[in-house]
Amino acid sequence: GGVAPLDPQPLLESLLRLRHDELAGRRIALSWHNASPEARLQAEPVALEQILHNLVQNAAEALGNRGGRIAVRGEAQGAHYRLTVSDDGPGIAPEVLPRLFQPFFTTRTGGMGLGLSLSETLAHGMHGQLTAANLPAGGACFTLSLPLAESST
Ligand code: ADP
Ligand code: MG
Repeated sequence: GGVAPLDPQPLLESLLRLRHDELAGRRIALSWHNASPEARLQAEPVALEQILHNLVQNAAEALGNRGGRIAVRGEAQGAHYRLTVSDDGPGIAPEVLPRLFQPFFTTRTGGMGLGLSLSETLAHGMHGQLTAANLPAGGACFTLSLPLAESST
């Protein structure tokens, strides 16, 4: 049972197109690459949209006024589809990493600290995972892993 197989491509395209021009005005380059165009996910489109919106928003906030890059990539791996949102901002401080997903945890003035907590809950609700890491080059990378629809494995 559950949800209909979801093609992430049109959803991601329209979501990222919406943000692209606004971010370009802040000298932030937003890119999207789907390495597995044949992949279909077992996912709720509204939940997936909400998670991606939060991750792109956080990346843009981490970049602030200095500009930079946000790269969104998707690739099927085994029984899962991995979506990564990476930026070339300051990255996540080591003492912050274990607290990122706690409700109301924020390092931003005026932040609510609910974006990642909600995103993780939505990911778990789809039998997926959301993890955070720093890139060797210095920025942050969030990985959303969602089950592939059975028909596409
Ligand atoms: P908020 O955005 O309201 O602070 P979130 O739950 O979305 O709440 O994020 C929690 C915290 O995680 C942020 O305050 C920030 O410290 C950290 N964070 C999230 N995304 C990034 C990122 N891309 N780079 C660096 N830190 C991040
Ligand atoms: Mg946030």
